[in-house]
Amino acid sequence: MPPTTLSKDSSIAIVGAGVFGLSTSLHLAAAGYKNVTVFDYQPYEQNAYSTTDGADAASADLNKVMRLSYGEEVLYQRLAFEALPIWEAWNRELAATPTHKLPKGLKQGDKIWNNCGFLRLSADGKLSEHEKSTLANLTADGLRDTQYIIGDPRDEARAKANGWHRKFDALKRKERGQNLVGVLDTTAGFVEASKACLWTLYLARKAGVKFVLGNEVGRVDCFLKERGRTVGIKTADGLEHKADLVILAAGGWTPSLFPPVAPLLETTAGSVIYIQLPPQHERPDLWERFSSEKFPVYAWGGWSKGSGIGGFPRTETGIMKIGFRGKKYTNYATIERDGQRHRLSVPKTRYTPETETRITKEAVDTLKAFIKENLPELTAFGISGCRNCWYTDSLDNSFLIDRVPSDPGLMICSGGSGHGFKFLPILGREVLAIIENPNNKNAYGRLWQWRTKDSGPKNGLEDGEAGPRVLNKQVMTTAKDFKFSEIEKARL
Ligand SMILES: Cc1cc2nc3c(=O)[nH]c(=O)nc-3n(C[C@H](O)[C@H](O)[C@H](O)COP(=O)(O)OP(=O)(O)OC[C@H]3O[C@@H](n4cnc5c(N)ncnc54)[C@H](O)[C@@H]3O)c2cc1C
Repeated sequence: MPPTTLSKDSSIAIVGAGVFGLSTSLHLAAAGYKNVTVFDYQPYEQNAYSTTDGADAASADLNKVMRLSYGEEVLYQRLAFEALPIWEAWNRELAATPTHKLPKGLKQGDKIWNNCGFLRLSADGKLSEHEKSTLANLTADGLRDTQYIIGDPRDEARAKANGWHRKFDALKRKERGQNLVGVLDTTAGFVEASKACLWTLYLARKAGVKFVLGNEVGRVDCFLKERGRTVGIKTADGLEHKADLVILAAGGWTPSLFPPVAPLLETTAGSVIYIQLPPQHERPDLWERFSSEKFPVYAWGGWSKGSGIGGFPRTETGIMKIGFRGKKYTNYATIERDGQRHRLSVPKTRYTPETETRITKEAVDTLKAFIKENLPELTAFGISGCRNCWYTDSLDNSFLIDRVPSDPGLMICSGGSGHGFKFLPILGREVLAIIENPNNKNAYGRLWQWRTKDSGPKNGLEDGEAGPRVLNKQVMTTAKDFKFSEIEKARL
């Protein structure tokens, strides 16, 4: 039986090369663990975490919001604050690394963190209680001067002095005679998600982490057990890999690999649409207007709480990504594990055996209404693509990072709940602390520990398959939903 206390020579197998697995592997290697292996069925060094080339992990994406604004959740605010200088340092390191040394998909000078600001706009004309807590907690940490309340004379004067005021009305609401209420957060912006994963994989490999990537070799089929304790994994090629500790970091696939976690974690999907701008030479005005120099990340009516609508500046190739997380969908299926059948929510992407290339009509209609009101110049182009982005929601939106109580050989590292990406540079530091101090947890260890909730709301997990968010109860989009009608365009 492997020891419960690990040494630097212990073998550690990590299942999943998304944010949670990558960050953990990097910090383990940096702390001197010499025998860390990450398994993933995605050939990430070939497809470069590209969502158009087979990657469907939550971590594989064009961009994700990096923010410190967390309402009452000060521990996340502080962790994001600690991640900031590392994102900065990574930009500098990437600028100094010649392209030929970098993996496919990265080039020298790529900027994976972009401090373009985050415009948190109210949809009902007043600052929400969540917004007020965010401001209070950032003020308590000495960061009030990074926040600009639109309409506050002192903040407006400060913003004019340093130029940030140009991003106040990025959606041009005032020009259209609409109200403009919100806060511009200058600590925030976006990270280029797939590129950031590639970079972390590169750093982890340099630090000595082994990666077993690819459909058969890297696909974990089951766990090896001895007297109830996990002692390794078996991959789809039939090989058994013994490990002193297995860390399950398989994002939306975590509950189906380990069903006992289902009362704490549910696999859900947020909805994303893309709008392709016309070529730059045809519409240089729009390319300039929506560039990150001129246009911030924005949220409309609350991002983590509230309407869940938000978007990004255009990408290098002129794509505007807009997301909707006001309702997160589930997809229940029967999973067989250890001789038992379970009904669980599992990812259904364009690449899973049972595919789904559409998103719900509800999500598209909500986003179209937002666009008509706030970005009417985009209605002419229609929606060019969409995606269900699958991840695990926990019962309280906090991560789950802990050993399974009945099985010290298995640790769960998941429950990103739609906000884990920004912590890529730093999350593994806390995972390491939890691994090394199982009986003396720090504040993050306590926040993320294995937990249950017997009564009351559980972040929608209590709905289960009977609930209203199940994907096969939704009306899905057709091609016609991707266009704006002539009437909608004519109203401009
Ligand atoms: C729509 C959406 C918007 C989001 N926006 C933000 C944001 O703005 N800011 C932010 O900070 N966060 C955001 N997040 C959250 C963030 O993306 C996640 O918290 C994070 O990416 C989760 O990482 P992960 O490693 O847990 O999972 P994943 O990235 O899904 O990685 C899991 C990995 O496990 C692998 N895997 C699965 N099964 C197996 C198996 N059997 N064997 C081997 N490997 C396996 C998969 O291939 C995958 O690579 C968003 C998420 C979504 C979906």
